[in-house]
Amino acid sequence: MPDPLTHVGFPSRVVLGAGTLDRVADEVGLLGVNRVLLIATKSARDSADLVELALGDAFAGRIDEVRQHVPKEKADAARAKAREVGATGIVAIGGGSAIGLAKAIALTETTAAEGEGESAQGAGAQSVGARGAGGWLPVVAVPTTYSGSEMTPVWGQTEGGSKSTGTDLRVLPRTVIYDPVLSRGLPLKVTAASVANALAHCVEATWTDKADPITEVIAVEGARALREGLLQILKNPTDLEARSNLLYGASLAGSALASAGTGVHHKLCHLLGGTYNLPHAETHAAVLPQVTRVKAPEVPRAKVKLEAALETDDLATGLFDLFSTAGVPTSLRELGLTEQQATEAAERFQASTSFDVTEILHRAWAGER
Ligand code: NAD
Repeated sequence: MPDPLTHVGFPSRVVLGAGTLDRVADEVGLLGVNRVLLIATKSARDSADLVELALGDAFAGRIDEVRQHVPKEKADAARAKAREVGATGIVAIGGGSAIGLAKAIALTETTAAEGEGESAQGAGAQSVGARGAGGWLPVVAVPTTYSGSEMTPVWGQTEGGSKSTGTDLRVLPRTVIYDPVLSRGLPLKVTAASVANALAHCVEATWTDKADPITEVIAVEGARALREGLLQILKNPTDLEARSNLLYGASLAGSALASAGTGVHHKLCHLLGGTYNLPHAETHAAVLPQVTRVKAPEVPRAKVKLEAALETDDLATGLFDLFSTAGVPTSLRELGLTEQQATEAAERFQASTSFDVTEILHRAWAGER
């Protein structure tokens, strides 16, 4: 019998398989949505054209411009567009940025029929079963990267260079459609970095304050699938089975992130990314092996399971080697951070944590195996 535990899982319908883009219109219908605002990242415009056709009369409007980190002015414009076209639901095709824009709309907008002018604030605290009853706009996500955002109730928005984030059930996509055909063209470099980001969700989910044995099972299986998919992709980037493995792994990674939340690793990456403008996914790859070296011994059961899943004797070294093999930079120096900046960042972060951030950051800066 397991020790007493608390686990929070989030409800979403997941559809995965080659050709499932064809099911978007049916899935939208199942949610009772009759006016769809379609959001598509640049690389997904052809897919969005097909969805637009398939939606027929249910197509209400489209946004083709998506920016990283959901700038507030873009979010406001998208909300205005949703109101203007009378949207009763949103379909987002793309990476974390396209899904992030859909979440920003879902956070504030209600359907004209049920809730125009109503305040939706605080609804996220209500039971999940009540979602939609107040006229929230359901989101259908069609991810084309491995960010995992589609599985979480976390939203983000940037204004004046600073990013605010929050958690609200209204933004959790109701249906997620993973079609591996859509990610076949994701460049190898972007793929590998995005997988490193997903692996960070899996690994960190085992040691956060909210980590629990159920999330651990999800995280370990996610890590296994992500490694398998990444190694397959290195041999053949257009391999559909590999792309399916990666989407499956990313979905599990996103679920683990949603349940366990983030810990010291993500906080460190956000500090580095926000302060020194480092690329999000690559920063994870450089920092994760170093944080893992210090944190994994605190969770010995998960460490052993993750080592088995990644087929390595040592989790930190195994991650480092996997990222190196995939051609992802494993040092912050390669991302443009100076040694002085690494020292500065360590000084800023040290106050909020009990372990030696200076050593972690210096190893991450130099890329020590
Ligand atoms: P992204 O959505 O910005 O996509 C990266 C680039 O890849 C873009 O230029 C995009 O056009 C391109 N692209 C996407 N799919 C493609 C494809 N199939 N083929 C070719 N090119 C393609 O980046 P991302 O890494 O997916 O998401 C990062 C964002 O997501 C960040 O803002 C991050 O904070 C957020 N995020 C949020 C959560 C959450 O739970 N809310 C979780 C993870 C990440």
